[in-house]
Amino acid sequence: MFGINNKNGKSTPKSSVLASDLRNEKAKSDIILNAIDDGVMLLDANKTIQMFNPAAAKITGWAEKDTINLDYHSVIKLVNEKNEPYAQADDPFEKIFEEAIPVRDTKAYLQTNSGKTIAVDINVSALIDQEQNITGAVGIFRDVTQERVEQKQRAEFISTASHEMRTPVAAIEGYLALAMNERVSKIDSKARDYLEKAHESTQHLGKLFQDLLTSAKAEDGRLQNHPSVVEMGDFLQKLSEDVRFVAEKKGLILDYLIGSSGGPTVDITGSGSQKIVRPLYYTYVDPDRLREVITNLFDNAIKYTESGKITIGLTGDDKIVQIRVQDTGGGIPPEDVPHLFEKFYRVDNTATRTIGGTGLGLFISRKIVELYSGRIWVESELGKGSIFFINLPRLSTEKANSLQAQEATKAPNIVSPNAKL
Ligand code: ADP
Repeated sequence: MFGINNKNGKSTPKSSVLASDLRNEKAKSDIILNAIDDGVMLLDANKTIQMFNPAAAKITGWAEKDTINLDYHSVIKLVNEKNEPYAQADDPFEKIFEEAIPVRDTKAYLQTNSGKTIAVDINVSALIDQEQNITGAVGIFRDVTQERVEQKQRAEFISTASHEMRTPVAAIEGYLALAMNERVSKIDSKARDYLEKAHESTQHLGKLFQDLLTSAKAEDGRLQNHPSVVEMGDFLQKLSEDVRFVAEKKGLILDYLIGSSGGPTVDITGSGSQKIVRPLYYTYVDPDRLREVITNLFDNAIKYTESGKITIGLTGDDKIVQIRVQDTGGGIPPEDVPHLFEKFYRVDNTATRTIGGTGLGLFISRKIVELYSGRIWVESELGKGSIFFINLPRLSTEKANSLQAQEATKAPNIVSPNAKL
């Protein structure tokens, strides 16, 4: 047997070196697992608990020795904010055994062994063997009860404050508009200049309060949301017609492109003479909310593009509908991209220093898109421009028709995808 020399010059068999290495490794990981404040739980393929660290015991109120070899459902009892037990499809530990994609749940509540309900953040990852079988899962969880209370108080404060402040700001804006109205007031050009600047700032303030209010609502789930069947091609066509003049005012070209991906098609000429067909992209969203998102992406594209073109595009496959807003502006530095959809995040550059903004638009957009189980992200190249993508679940034409029939019987005045564009 091969051996290695220890410090006394004596040879140690290799197998015992390995065994002691393993013991050392285990001792090290035990030290770490015992020291951290996060609860760590290891499940085997049968979803029974194989490891439960002291923090997990402290958070759940279960003694570590009582949990080993128990089905995790007996120990980790998850409920939603209404105290209703999690459905299997929502349970992050169940999800991981279905798909093996890391799951993060920041809305869960856990019932402890003594029946107390605490707020928890949970991250679960799958353990996968060389044949790609899921052999277990590791769950890491944290008691965030205090943080959630503070988050709620912050959101309530922002919501009340911004709501209260919108009223006086609207009054100031109104009076400034009157002061600048030649039929009502006589002012010299210098005063007009000052008033125009004041009016602009008041509008900015009004937008900030509105965005604050919307983001506070988005965070605590109070955002008004009345989804209906929306045919995205028609919806975007009308929306781009409405915003076209804003782009043209800045000397930018606006293009609207509908891609083709098969599926049901419609004659978009309306005349039937020259048949140009395109697929129908049905989604189930609140058209007012989605308009906010696309308008925000479009406004940004205009704001941050000096020359060139804005393209609003639409494609999809049988599962998703993909909207894109592309510009030929300055682009976004790669290090800023991961933070772009966070609250108040603005890239620090000359453009944002001179161009007004709240840093809330993309945060609100993300919250809205997530309401519909969608995804929003950006691909950007400095100096070349940016493409913002939105993926939304696509409704089949049959499903869209049956939902539309239901909507028609429920409420005769349903919000049409074309309304208020
Ligand atoms: P803002 O009110 O500042 O525009 P947003 O949340 O809408 O807030 O956008 C956040 C930041 O992302 C912006 O401040 C800007 O730095 C960057 N950004 C957004 N869209 C674009 C774009 N099309 N091109 C370049 N930068 C952009």
